[in-house]
Amino acid sequence: MRIIRTTQALRTWRRQQPPGASTGLVPTMGALHAGHQSLVQRARRTCQTVVVSIFVNPLQFGPAEDYRRYPRDLAADLARCREENVDLVFIPKVETLYPRDFQTTVAVSTLAQRWEGECRPTHFQGVTTVVTKLLNLVRPDRAFFGQKDYQQYCLIRQLVRDLDLDTRITLCPTIRDDDGLALSSRNRYVTKTERQRALALYQALSAGKEAIARGTRRAGPVKKRMAKVLGAGHGLDVDYLACCDARTLEPLSRLQGTVVLLGAIRTGGVRFIDNLIVRIRR
Ligand code: AMP
Repeated sequence: MRIIRTTQALRTWRRQQPPGASTGLVPTMGALHAGHQSLVQRARRTCQTVVVSIFVNPLQFGPAEDYRRYPRDLAADLARCREENVDLVFIPKVETLYPRDFQTTVAVSTLAQRWEGECRPTHFQGVTTVVTKLLNLVRPDRAFFGQKDYQQYCLIRQLVRDLDLDTRITLCPTIRDDDGLALSSRNRYVTKTERQRALALYQALSAGKEAIARGTRRAGPVKKRMAKVLGAGHGLDVDYLACCDARTLEPLSRLQGTVVLLGAIRTGGVRFIDNLIVRIRR
């Protein structure tokens, strides 16, 4: 497994790749868990060369967020990458991707404004800027993103389309713990009690999905049901719970087509996001 830290070495490596050999990229911030691993495995199954990037991107953290204390464990990450037969790990330093005179950002407009965008105003601009840079550097045929960050996936799909980038974006399912909590590098921050509270988000989304399966076609009752299961208060704050069109992320009143149930909560000083996609046949 090759480890590259500079953009120059990465470009040289890219130029040396045989034409026609497909390359897959899995961008990560490290602290790798089974969720990341599932993306790598999907890349491994579909591409000849698999590249994982590990970069805790300062641009996507707000001033009051956890950039400094974000978990970092490079040795463990590299061991996981080796286990999954990754071909190349790209680990740039902050000053490598953002030298002192860096002044360009990439921003998606409408899709970035709602939900996470409202709660974390500078977050998506940081994400789309770094992902554009990584796609330009690695020039992968495919890049793999997790459903756990569904809005992020929608933005990246949009930016690839808008900027005519030659990469196919693949959405991979959310990997969960046995109790249903979506795996996240931040899960380690919370106590057992807070973790139990956080789990209510998945339970609420699941209850919303069940209500739709039972035939509810109006968003109002579905949202009410989700809010009831979530039961805010008692150390849990709700940022949003929504029934949206899965493509535009606009809130729906009448549920039809492919719907995404989105939610974000805070407990124990940690934010949790989750979502479920529901396909309505008629
Ligand atoms: P991060 O390291 O948190 O920036 O995540 C890197 C990639 O892994 C993103 O595409 C995430 O959506 C994806 N990811 C994170 N957690 C999970 C999970 N539990 N299941 C599937 N994909 C995930």
